[in-house]
Amino acid sequence: MITVRGLTKFFGDTPVLNGIDLDIEQGEIIVVIGPSGTGKSTLLRCINMLESPDQGHITLGGHHVDFDRVSNDDRLALRRKTAFVFQNYALFANKNALENVAERLIVVDGWPKAKAHARAGELLDRVGLNDKHTAYPAALSGGQQQRVGIARAMAANSDLILFDEPTSALDPEWVDEVLSVMKQLARERQTMLVVTHEMQFARDVADRVIFMSGGNIVEQGPPEALFSAPKDPRTRSFLRKVL
Ligand code: ADP
Ligand code: MG
Repeated sequence: MITVRGLTKFFGDTPVLNGIDLDIEQGEIIVVIGPSGTGKSTLLRCINMLESPDQGHITLGGHHVDFDRVSNDDRLALRRKTAFVFQNYALFANKNALENVAERLIVVDGWPKAKAHARAGELLDRVGLNDKHTAYPAALSGGQQQRVGIARAMAANSDLILFDEPTSALDPEWVDEVLSVMKQLARERQTMLVVTHEMQFARDVADRVIFMSGGNIVEQGPPEALFSAPKDPRTRSFLRKVL
């Protein structure tokens, strides 16, 4: 359903992604792991054009984009067909929870405000924030803010939700409530590409785990296979540190 071929990204003269090939099935839950600085965030950011890739191509939601000649339509299409959950939530501080979730429906999808707010309210209820619709980010815990971030991503009704270390900035006490919302989404077979260090989450919900190192996909497979019998020495060395 989603096909990435030869995705290459440089920052200046430094190669950061060296021709990534990736196929994602509809409803598939993929966890990406690997040492820091290996291009995991850049891969996610390239897929939804927060960064501009240098080479390669992608087909997502029926839209084909050649990265060496990206039009504004292409950029918009990839933005619309994906949603991003950030490590630091990236909520609008001057908007309440409802307005944060409704924003994209109004601005990107052109929904009338009342309809967007009704939908946003349903989504906040689904992530367990029924009593926080009018709360501003500053009045919410980290875990609640990230659940607003996830509700916002759900609002997009997108082909793929990209999660970049969604629990890394959280105090430990808030991690489980965020993971449990993500697990619920996974059970509903929302297609997800998740960068995380939460290995138990990977074991519990991932259909496939991808290990990245040095801007390459080194190894991938079902979590039980990858965790119990990693083939590449780089995977083995990484897993020894995190498992
Ligand atoms: P990861 O998410 O796996 O930790 P990143 O994708 O954030 O890795 O970064 C990969 C490499 O690209 C790192 O060496 C990082 O320093 C570099 N990098 C990331 N973003 C930028 C940027 N905007 N400008 C220059 N270098 C960057
Ligand atoms: Mg990162």
